[in-house]
Amino acid sequence: MSSQLIRAVLLALLAALLALPVGYFVAHWAGWAVFCCGLGLQLAFHFRNFARLERWSRSPVVDSSLEGEGAWDGVFGRLYRHEKDLRTKLAQRDHEISMLIAAGQALTDGVVLLDANNLILFCNTTAEMQLGLVIRTDRGQPVVNLVRQPEFVNYLGSNDFSRPLTLRTERSEDRVLSIFVIPYAGDRRLMQIKDVTQTDLLDRMRRDFVANVSHELRTPLTVLAGFLETLQEIEVDRDEQARYLGMMIDQSRRMESIVQDLLTLSSIESAPPPESEIVDMANIVDKLRRDAEALSAGRHSIVIETDGQGDLRGSEPELVSAFGNLVANAVRYTPTGGRVRISWRANTQGAEFAVQDTGIGIDAKHIPRLTERFYRVDRGRSRDAGGTGLGLAIVKHSLSRHQALLDIKSTPGVGSRFAARFPASRVVGV
Ligand code: ADP
Repeated sequence: MSSQLIRAVLLALLAALLALPVGYFVAHWAGWAVFCCGLGLQLAFHFRNFARLERWSRSPVVDSSLEGEGAWDGVFGRLYRHEKDLRTKLAQRDHEISMLIAAGQALTDGVVLLDANNLILFCNTTAEMQLGLVIRTDRGQPVVNLVRQPEFVNYLGSNDFSRPLTLRTERSEDRVLSIFVIPYAGDRRLMQIKDVTQTDLLDRMRRDFVANVSHELRTPLTVLAGFLETLQEIEVDRDEQARYLGMMIDQSRRMESIVQDLLTLSSIESAPPPESEIVDMANIVDKLRRDAEALSAGRHSIVIETDGQGDLRGSEPELVSAFGNLVANAVRYTPTGGRVRISWRANTQGAEFAVQDTGIGIDAKHIPRLTERFYRVDRGRSRDAGGTGLGLAIVKHSLSRHQALLDIKSTPGVGSRFAARFPASRVVGV
């Protein structure tokens, strides 16, 4: 600043130095005129630069329009650098913010930021889908106006967020969300939303399974205990005693089959991916025929259809268990005089193992649920036929471990066809 002042004083002295001889030799007024001209020129110069600065300050841009003259050049230069630094910092900050937003968007959990009055500040795409929000239009709206389920409104109003809220969404009935509210930055709130539909389903399946197993085992156990008490309390003759013992053996075998099927299911579930041994299908089909004939005891005609081509790559015990269940079902659910056809076809496109019967058939509404554990169309009939309700669950599991699909076609009163379709990658020798 002092250098500017010295400069201004020097210029004024220069003007005075020029004005003095003119005033002395020409006229006083001419001397004053030269002095005023000098000062005026100086003022005009500063005013011009000031006007430029004033113009630039209205819309600051970082370019050469900010160039000054003389003492102004230093001022303009500093402003230019300051503006440039500021813009670089702003660009960096913008980049960092957009990266943070991108990270928020990449989260698989939903995130909603709320202010102290529960107005929406931000939400990511996952939260938009989970809660049906549209951030473009919903920013600044109270979240409880958009998610109106009473349990959600009450939870947010309770101010007690020690436990998450489990919410079944109204939009799609089958979605279950777990909502955590985390206070941050004083009175703001971060809502973290997890989709727990799958975990909830597994939990329900586990509970149902335990209930089913208990029920399935309790029934024969109750019968067994009843007979035992009767035999203990009442004198019965030898024939009656033999009849009771026969029925008790039936119930014990039933329990044994259930436990055996449960063990098979659990061993398939916990086993590593099936080995890739070559499974000799001609041998297996022959064994299945013999098993079917033994189970049928001459009540059905058992037909085999195969050109003997092709084998499978996989685990023999698992495949035998799956095919064996299909064959046993066909025999068990086909009345005397019916036919059971076992077929095996393989080519370069893939392979199909199928069991077709002329049995009681299945109503279409039951078909999607047949492979659920303990699902039975007719509980009494299954029990009489020695079924456990786990056979098709074992089949589905074993097949899916071999990337095979189970196709079920059935017409009540006409018969059923259960086909296991294997991809080409599992077929050898064609
Ligand atoms: P189960 O031990 O009761 O046979 P599965 O899981 O093997 O249990 O089969 C489930 C249900 O599917 C059976 O209870 C039966 O109602 C039906 N089912 C299976 N196979 C046949 C078939 N070939 N014909 C008619 N119904 C069948």
